[in-house]
Amino acid sequence: MKSENKICQNCKKDFIIELDDFSFYEKIKVPLPTFCPECRRQRRLSYRNDFVFYNRVCDLCKRNIISLYSPSNPQIIYCNKCWWSDNWDSKSYAKDFDFTRPFFEQFKEFREKVPALALTNDNGVGSINSEYVQDVAYSKDCYMVMVAWKMENCMYFSYGSGVKDAVDSMGVFSRNGGGIYEAIQSQECFGSKYIQNSNQLIDCSFCYDCRGCSNCFMCVGLRNKKFFFKNEEKTKKEYEEILSSYKLDCWSGVEKAREEFEEFKLTKPHKFANLVNCLNCLGENLTNSKNSKDVFNVHKAEDVKYSENGDTEKDSYDLSVGGELEKCYEGLTPDNSTFALFTNYVWKSLDMTYSDFCMSCQNCFGCVGLKHARYSIFNKEYEKEEYMKLKERIIEHMKKTGEYGEFFQIKDSPFGYNETMAMISFPLTKEEALGHGYKWQDNVQQTKGKTTLFKIPDSIKEVNDSITDEILECQICKRNYKIIDNELKFYKKWSIPIPRYCFYCRLEKRFKLRGPSKLWHRKCMKKGCNNTFETSYAPELPEIIYCERCYQKEIY
Ligand SMILES: [Zn+2]
Ligand SMILES: [Zn+2]
Ligand SMILES: [Zn+2]
Ligand SMILES: [Zn+2]
Repeated sequence: MKSENKICQNCKKDFIIELDDFSFYEKIKVPLPTFCPECRRQRRLSYRNDFVFYNRVCDLCKRNIISLYSPSNPQIIYCNKCWWSDNWDSKSYAKDFDFTRPFFEQFKEFREKVPALALTNDNGVGSINSEYVQDVAYSKDCYMVMVAWKMENCMYFSYGSGVKDAVDSMGVFSRNGGGIYEAIQSQECFGSKYIQNSNQLIDCSFCYDCRGCSNCFMCVGLRNKKFFFKNEEKTKKEYEEILSSYKLDCWSGVEKAREEFEEFKLTKPHKFANLVNCLNCLGENLTNSKNSKDVFNVHKAEDVKYSENGDTEKDSYDLSVGGELEKCYEGLTPDNSTFALFTNYVWKSLDMTYSDFCMSCQNCFGCVGLKHARYSIFNKEYEKEEYMKLKERIIEHMKKTGEYGEFFQIKDSPFGYNETMAMISFPLTKEEALGHGYKWQDNVQQTKGKTTLFKIPDSIKEVNDSITDEILECQICKRNYKIIDNELKFYKKWSIPIPRYCFYCRLEKRFKLRGPSKLWHRKCMKKGCNNTFETSYAPELPEIIYCERCYQKEIY
């Protein structure tokens, strides 16, 4: 057998199925993909709404809640308390499969009727005091945390695990930590802010690719250094004078430092990829991983391909988020699961296919909202033998309709295309989206014009506790936002000025700094070096990109 060239049924471009891919598809018994990796990713992301929230009522207790689903969304929504309670029974929605109709059509109708979680989290079950979080489990005292687990006292955080006391950060997987602010892909740091691709930092600010440093400010590519400013060694006294002259407790001071640091960063070479403790990996932002390819922002990936944003993934392909899983394929967050194929938020489960929101289940096909269920199809339980036979019959049916092996279709997503993560990586105009038959949300909720406080004190030291009663206005998009008590406490403790931008604008800036889940084949920019590599730095970017060998010679 050798690698095979295929034409993507969606974008009509060529893609390659590599030699080792065949054995994976064979092992999990799925046909070869008909979409290229990029189109498969777009299709999955069109099912991920992680950041667009609405006020609406719970369809069971009628309480006012926050949800991913707009009030006009036909999906039945229960608040977390109701969804996880015994006040309803998802098995009561059980129905027979209709062999005269395609699977996806029936599944969509079924999914809209079975109540979904307002926000995908386990608050009150595995998590404590963490109501306003999305795709979060096993966490405590968290607010506006998205796509993370085992978190404590974190706010406005996305993509990570095991982090304590972090605000406005992305891609952190530390088992310790504290006082982390505006950190991107940085591990095991303490009391550090405005840092990226850096590990084991203590009391550092504005650092990029630094390791094992303490008290460093505006540095790039340092190893085990102390009292450095712009990559130059200072005495403790000099360092402290420089640092205090920047007034990082003030918004104006932070903005000045940010601007200067961005300029300084561009004068230093960057490593082609942020791969830390990795063996035989191709991708970006990988830590402690091996034998993985086209993988982005994953901690501990092993034999993983075409995946992004995960923690401890093994032998799996095509995942848009996932943790502690094995042999999963085409899924959104199949956490703690094995053999979850084509699933959305199927947790702690085994042998699950084409299912949504199933928890602690085994052997289910086309199921929604089940807990502790076995051998079920469209939420109806069967004897084991009967289940196996019926499942095979449905798979045969789906092969005839061209559905088996494909993830759910974009047009059937519960969300408007512009509400989902697909919009960030594969932006479309409303006309384009509607032209493809995708949904569009015209009324993305945002509050404007209710501002009560226009002038925020420059220094956090001058900010009164009453600021938590005020409505602030984003300096970029004019959206209103608020500061919560816990957040103010954090800013005061770590001497961080009140942000002038809303959560969405802050998030957008972080996404931009982190870079895309995409690779380009490029050549090392060091004069005389002919090494090539796969990098997530697009060719038109201003950064100087070096191969591993040339970069190692540059760092201190
Ligand atoms: Zn394609
Ligand atoms: Zn409720
Ligand atoms: Zn904004
Ligand atoms: Zn080189």
